[in-house]
Amino acid sequence: MSDAHFVTVDPIFQTFVDTATPPHQIAQGFTWTEGPVWLNDQLFFNDIPNKQMLRWSRADGLRTALANSEFANGNTLDTEGRMVSCEHGGRRVVRRRDPLDLDATEVIAARFQGKRLNSPNDVVVRSDGCVWFTDPPYGINSDIEGYPAESEIGGCYVFCAEPDGTLHAVATDFDKPNGLAFSPDESRLYVADSGAIKGASFPGIDYDLPHHIRVFDIQGTTLCNPRVFAVIAPGVPDGLRVDHGGYVWSSALDGIHCLSPEGALVGKIALPQQTSNICFGGASGQTMFMTSSDKVYSVESTRRDASHVLKARASEGSLS
Ligand code: MG
Repeated sequence: MSDAHFVTVDPIFQTFVDTATPPHQIAQGFTWTEGPVWLNDQLFFNDIPNKQMLRWSRADGLRTALANSEFANGNTLDTEGRMVSCEHGGRRVVRRRDPLDLDATEVIAARFQGKRLNSPNDVVVRSDGCVWFTDPPYGINSDIEGYPAESEIGGCYVFCAEPDGTLHAVATDFDKPNGLAFSPDESRLYVADSGAIKGASFPGIDYDLPHHIRVFDIQGTTLCNPRVFAVIAPGVPDGLRVDHGGYVWSSALDGIHCLSPEGALVGKIALPQQTSNICFGGASGQTMFMTSSDKVYSVESTRRDASHVLKARASEGSLS
């Protein structure tokens, strides 16, 4: 079943989102938005080409968070609620206790085996404090989302940074690794490959190249048993999130696709432009915020971020 704003493939989808209410446009007028994250009762997100980090709340509307974000892309929170950001310009992953204070910047990762990273794209933090991130070249292969440069590493890897700074290349066979997210029990990692989009200076989508999500089993700081979880079309998977029930919400050219834990499409939030990412937030933790080209939207849902499962178990004392 389909209307202008939602596509229902499995009836369960209609219990996930309020399909009677169209996606609400909360902000517009940007160039390319990414990196939504809910922190301190506000939505933070980036307008990458304009080097700005923005923040929005229903009470205060839209405000500038950082006037120079150094082409920041994906954002997430760590176990202490600090913002972790991928900076294309600085070619590094950073952390700030106060996201508005550049002087509070701590570098998590900038080099691998002495070579500069390409342009870290998206990031997640496991409950043990390890920071997992992707490193495609979108911030160095044009001057639109960063500073043009050659790749020093010569590949596009997925990395895991341990709390002591040790950096592991955990997957080295991606074309362009992009969004990533853990399963609710953190035993698996989903990683998007957006290789079909070559970058801001290369228009079009080459469907002969990867446009899928792979899932891995996690053993410590290594990944094993890779398999293709879902092929995304139209477009590519960019950012993604997993909800508390293990459903995967992936960005695509036509909005957000909701996939079952087995990888089957159960429904779509249809948006008119290429969509880059999604996060859960709001007072209930159940509002979905979506960055979509030059706009940002919200949809009310009954879902929460997968990390809610671990937080709930920890508060019950059952998580060591
Ligand atoms: Mg991305």
